[in-house]
Amino acid sequence: MVGSMGNSFMDSREEEEEEKTELLWPEELELANGKASESNGAGEDRAIVLGRNMHTVSFAIKEPESDDELTGEREGYMASVLAKYRKSLVERTKHHLGYPYNLDLDYGALSQLQHFSINNLGDPFIESNYGVHSRQFEVGVLDWFARLWELEKHEYWGYITNCGTEGNLHGILVGRESFPDGILYASRESHYSVFKAARMYRMHCVKVDTLTSGEIDCMDFRAKLLDHKDKPAILNVNIGTTVKGAVDDLDVLIQTLEESGFKDRFYIHCDGALFGLMLPFVTRAPKVTFKKPIGSVSVSGHKFVGCPMPCGVQITRLKHINALASNVEYLASRDATIMGSRNGHAPLFLWYTLNRKGYRGFRKEVQKCLRNAHYLRDRLMAAGVGAMLNPLSSTVVFERPKDEGFVRRWQLACEGNIAHVVVMPSVTIEKLDDFLDELVAGRSAWYRDRSRPSPCIAAEIGQENCHCSMHKK
Ligand SMILES: *Cc1c(COP(=O)(O)O)cnc(C)c1O
Repeated sequence: MVGSMGNSFMDSREEEEEEKTELLWPEELELANGKASESNGAGEDRAIVLGRNMHTVSFAIKEPESDDELTGEREGYMASVLAKYRKSLVERTKHHLGYPYNLDLDYGALSQLQHFSINNLGDPFIESNYGVHSRQFEVGVLDWFARLWELEKHEYWGYITNCGTEGNLHGILVGRESFPDGILYASRESHYSVFKAARMYRMHCVKVDTLTSGEIDCMDFRAKLLDHKDKPAILNVNIGTTVKGAVDDLDVLIQTLEESGFKDRFYIHCDGALFGLMLPFVTRAPKVTFKKPIGSVSVSGHKFVGCPMPCGVQITRLKHINALASNVEYLASRDATIMGSRNGHAPLFLWYTLNRKGYRGFRKEVQKCLRNAHYLRDRLMAAGVGAMLNPLSSTVVFERPKDEGFVRRWQLACEGNIAHVVVMPSVTIEKLDDFLDELVAGRSAWYRDRSRPSPCIAAEIGQENCHCSMHKK
């Protein structure tokens, strides 16, 4: 069943619309897709539904003809493709709910910098011979995050990464270099990049169970630590899991490590890709701080912060980097980053946004997101849709909509029987209302046949949150 929907979709389209392949737009794809998705019933052997094969919808590169310059045809062609593309972006942005990206962007002031090839290759704190860089901005941003996570200027090192994944790759590498024979512990619901790091670095990785909330199970962690007492521990702590937005309990984890005989024999990387910048502004949330014995924290810049290109921030202790880095003569710099060339525009966007919003702005946005997430959860429940919202979180988890066309239209991220909406600053009440109206209308069609009711998701979100025929109150 894997990819079957994509294939049947392609087959039917290839016959009908061969000559149109270059210019299929989301609305048209949606229509074509609706037809194909009916066969995909919920619940029964839910295999991974792969996305569409992009090879059928690419914009071909056409070699210029010799008389192109005279007619201006080429410019016209390109302008019309871009204009249509822009229109589709506006539409796709309007119907985006599933991924934790803040799409509220206002960066007009930075458009003047598009004409420069800004590259911060190498270490942010050492000027390279390449002069078209934005290190002044990068270091300003890093200082801001180091202060947020309470690490002194002379004690921290960090850099603006390409994404949250790169932060995890770096944090786990620093842990591995600190404890070369250490075992990597990560909860089952950790982001896939953590397990990718384990594979890349060939580390022994122990998966720890999770609670229904998605939080790491500290009892299971303790048991697994005691099974491997001879090796140091490298632990990935989730500051917001990808699917359920669960926050691992940093304090209890540290206590568990110390009580299990790992004092001074552990390294903690905090994966704050999702909520690293939200949690500090949630009242009563436990603190992520370098005053606790953690080694690194990373966050994605294009998620809550809102940046038009993928980026992230990684902060660690300077002493770890001094042990890990090597000098590179060609760069006149030090090699401590995962990537070589680094996007020099990203720091400008982060700098701009942090300056504009500041602590107060972020606090307001966080509160709005949490409020809107509660609104969504309550309205889903009221409509008879089982839903879960973790405290400290703006990720609302609910039953996976039965129609894959609907899932695509709202760009929902799904796993097994569940889907989620991550309420970011760009997700307004109006948008949620539109979504809820469509979902309710859709469900009454999908579940018209009462002998095939909506699936039970008690195992994923807990009995008390499930609204299936068995658990409905
Ligand atoms: C999104 C996410 C990542 C990866 O971040 P990218 O910026 O997409 O590479 C890592 N961990 C968690 C918990 C995430 O939600």
